[in-house]
Amino acid sequence: MSSEDHHDVSRFQVGTRLIHGRRAPKEQFGFINTPIYRGSSIIHPDLETFETADLPYIYGRKGTPTMAAFEGLMAELDGAAGAISTPSGLCAVTTAILSCVSTGDHILVNDNVYRCTREFCDTILKRMGVETKYYDPTIGAEIQSLMRPETRLVYTETPGSHTMEMQDIPAIADIAHKNGSIVLTDNSWGTPLFFDALGKGADLCIHAATKYIAGHSDTLIGAVSANERLWGQLKSTREALGICASPDDLFLALRGFRTMRVRMDYLSRAGLEMAQWFSGRPEISQVLYPALPASPGYHLWKRDFTGASSLFSVILQPTFTAQAIKEMLNGLELFSLGLSWGGFASLVTPFNPVNHRTVVKWCTLGQALRFYIGLEDLSDLKNDLEKGFERLHAAPT
Ligand SMILES: *Cc1c(COP(=O)(O)O)cnc(C)c1O
Repeated sequence: MSSEDHHDVSRFQVGTRLIHGRRAPKEQFGFINTPIYRGSSIIHPDLETFETADLPYIYGRKGTPTMAAFEGLMAELDGAAGAISTPSGLCAVTTAILSCVSTGDHILVNDNVYRCTREFCDTILKRMGVETKYYDPTIGAEIQSLMRPETRLVYTETPGSHTMEMQDIPAIADIAHKNGSIVLTDNSWGTPLFFDALGKGADLCIHAATKYIAGHSDTLIGAVSANERLWGQLKSTREALGICASPDDLFLALRGFRTMRVRMDYLSRAGLEMAQWFSGRPEISQVLYPALPASPGYHLWKRDFTGASSLFSVILQPTFTAQAIKEMLNGLELFSLGLSWGGFASLVTPFNPVNHRTVVKWCTLGQALRFYIGLEDLSDLKNDLEKGFERLHAAPT
């Protein structure tokens, strides 16, 4: 986008790249992180420049130094040809899909996909004449049996939302590419730090940067990274749709990158410790967290990921009543009931996959709860949960 004089950081490790990538203090009067540029009009010095559009930035919607810094660092971390930013994670999903599909296409989508992605497929894509077929996320190379000549793309998300099934991305990508299809991966859980989606075969890698990248639950932002083959069409789709994230949110996400390694290092340890702690509790029948050897998909996580984040789900023993669960959740002091994740504070949400699955029936008994482990001290979180379990047992059956 611009010919910024930023530091080439490609030879450094990822933690260093997060700190030094896409900073150009010389161009910013020495300010250490690229500041917020707000603006629509950008002044051209003369008619010749206006006519040739020979400027690094020509209109605020198309790019600003803040946008270029965020997108450049995103692409750098994903090993991508380029990246776009979007005003939300969901907008990253929809823009990525729209950059690939046309009327008459068929697409394959994992059955445990993020709920709003599913809604987009079932409404807008359907109206556009794009047919969605959901598939068992654990299908692996068997996806061959679902491929049709008009299968434009295979959508993946690993682990999948809420139920955390892992997908064999290299196997799926291999089959998809042999059939001339494109692979999209929602990598919001793995982040560029723990899963190299493009390196494992995805053509487009989607991030709800709202979560771990922005990292403070105060910003909505998304990103899509593309390999060489898809970059042109992704970029032109963003421009044609007029999608641009707010410069304030881009700045917050860029700032999030700078501290992301230390947050993720801590959260991966915290997530594992809490998941192990849940595994030892008699109230819990199952912990769904691919970094636990007893969890389904562990071998894929171990093979393909370099870390695990701090979001997982648990299944309560089926003996507890709805009233008891209500008392447990309502009384929690540190775990708040709230959507989303990736910020500083711990969260919990009850969920029931029965109604949002069409391929793999959800037959597990017992209330499912999704936990996001934040940055609090783990002993305090455990105490909060222990008291919650006491309320669970105390409630009349
Ligand atoms: C939250 C989430 C999104 C959407 O992100 P928003 O910024 O909330 O729009 C997309 N995919 C996954 C897997 C998510 O968890």
